[in-house]
Amino acid sequence: MADNITFTMIKPDATAAGHTGKIIDKIIGSGFSIRAMKWTRLSKEDAEKFYAVHRERPFFGELVEYMSSGPIVAAVLEKNNAVEEYRKLIGATDPAKAEAGTIRALFAKSISANAVHGSDSNENAAIESAFFFSAREFA
Ligand code: ATP
Ligand code: MG
Repeated sequence: MADNITFTMIKPDATAAGHTGKIIDKIIGSGFSIRAMKWTRLSKEDAEKFYAVHRERPFFGELVEYMSSGPIVAAVLEKNNAVEEYRKLIGATDPAKAEAGTIRALFAKSISANAVHGSDSNENAAIESAFFFSAREFA
């Protein structure tokens, strides 16, 4: 399994707040290169599928509503040890607990509206990238 690829979304709270450019700038400035990127939107069905691992969690309904509430940016990022490096860059799920300088500390509103998604394993990075991008969309 490739260990140099991760998948991210800039979530609806961050696109609505006008943080998209600043977040992309921080991603590139932290040494990630962009392999694929698109401005798009999740339907409720898409969000249910994407977050299916969380369907038993109490916040699942809220998560699906939120993730389908506005535009997102989906992207595939490349760097050595990408999954771990990107999770360090985005910080803890709850922005109140995220380390200073991380994307969530800087831009997230709350534990649910937390600005960005980052894959949690190489396997999920591949699955999530394939959810949004076909092979010909990679540069
Ligand atoms: P992500 O998968 O989006 O990168 P994460 O891996 O840090 O986030 P997960 O545990 O995978 O966190 O949760 C997925 C998403 O579900 C979170 O990013 C957040 O939007 C939402 N979420 C997680 N925990 C809660 C909670 N306690 N209350 C509300 N929403 C939550
Ligand atoms: Mg997760």
